[in-house]
Amino acid sequence: MAFKLANISGKAALVKGEHYYDLKVISNNTFDEDTLNALNRLDELHELYGTLDEKTPTGLLEEAKIDAPISSPKNCYAVGLNYRNHAEEAGMEIPSVPMIFTKHTSCLVGPHAEIEMRSDHVDYEAELVAVIGKSGKDISVDDAWDHVAGLCIGQDISDRVVQFAAKPPQFNLGKSFDTFGPMGPYLVSLDALENKEKLNIKCKVNDEIRQNDNTNDLIFDIPSIIKYLSEIVTLNVGDVIFTGTPGGVGVMEGKFLKEGDVLTTSIEGLGSLENVCKRITNHSGVE
Ligand code: ZN
Repeated sequence: MAFKLANISGKAALVKGEHYYDLKVISNNTFDEDTLNALNRLDELHELYGTLDEKTPTGLLEEAKIDAPISSPKNCYAVGLNYRNHAEEAGMEIPSVPMIFTKHTSCLVGPHAEIEMRSDHVDYEAELVAVIGKSGKDISVDDAWDHVAGLCIGQDISDRVVQFAAKPPQFNLGKSFDTFGPMGPYLVSLDALENKEKLNIKCKVNDEIRQNDNTNDLIFDIPSIIKYLSEIVTLNVGDVIFTGTPGGVGVMEGKFLKEGDVLTTSIEGLGSLENVCKRITNHSGVE
């Protein structure tokens, strides 16, 4: 049975309706508190989800502190320029191989975390995120979905000045400031989605819709990204892949995020993230 796995104050939980259920408690201590460990037992997770109606909920989701579904993956990959309209607005060529960079895993935070901005050049990027559920190397396109535990939403927050400061540019640090990887709100198993390859994706700043697209516009879809990555690196259970952002990012019009802005990122079937932007004035001097 389809499941939603969340990380509530550092404890693995299943989510159904407006409630969450502590995984360790409802499994009679057969699972521990770590969501990453739970991904090693996906079949049992599916099974347990089917029994939730007989269990007592631990609490209400809206009252919970939700962390990133996987807070310490071994690796976090991201894909640049993976929507045609975003490559075009950036004045870049459509890539012939996936343009991969990494977000350092220390930047991953929960779906309602404050985004701490240390300059006036911080931008949003709504993205579909895949989480690996079965490790592998040299994974074929046909097998790739079998290696995915589920999908969630991510924000690839980017300091545009730091992203392009070095020549040639190295994206990693400009996209890895602390709090620059909001993720969640929970991990949704693939069988919960009617069409996992065709999901509306939307990003709003306050009340203004800035990005509005569909994941079927990805240049390299999730199986192609997994094939490409796994020819080079072993993909581990819990590894996170940000798949790229559609057109409409702020930098093109100079519309950067400001103190107090509310950033809402939604994907069909996956829920939404809501992050408030905070300008930190004692900046690191990298501006
Ligand atoms: Zn991105």
